Amino acid sequence: MEYFKLQEFACRCCGQLPPAVRENIEALVTEVLDPARRAFGGPVLVNSGYRCPKHNAEVGGVANSQHQRGEAADVRCADNKRLGKIIEQGVFDQLIYYPTFLHVSYKRQGINRKQIINK
Ligand SMILES: [Zn+2]
Repeated sequence: MEYFKLQEFACRCCGQLPPAVRENIEALVTEVLDPARRAFGGPVLVNSGYRCPKHNAEVGGVANSQHQRGEAADVRCADNKRLGKIIEQGVFDQLIYYPTFLHVSYKRQGINRKQIINK
């Protein structure tokens, strides 16, 4: 956790960040977000990290969303496309390019698929 604070990933509706979720967030940051931020060389902001079940339903997230396990974050920066290309070079489970942000996930256990989706 070099460039990010855990609090940035707390649920936007209630501020929760359960202990089990915390470990996943820390892995996502250490393995994916910190290295990408370092290579990018500029601020990377977290739109959304952990979502409690209520908040996930409110924002229309899928039921098994990785946000609910702290395995995913939506981030944005001055050049999302360039940040995405940097992420693509490393390890990740899923990278989704949205018009205004990137969704990126990482699994501590199991296979990280390196799946890339454009929306
Ligand atoms: Zn919440």
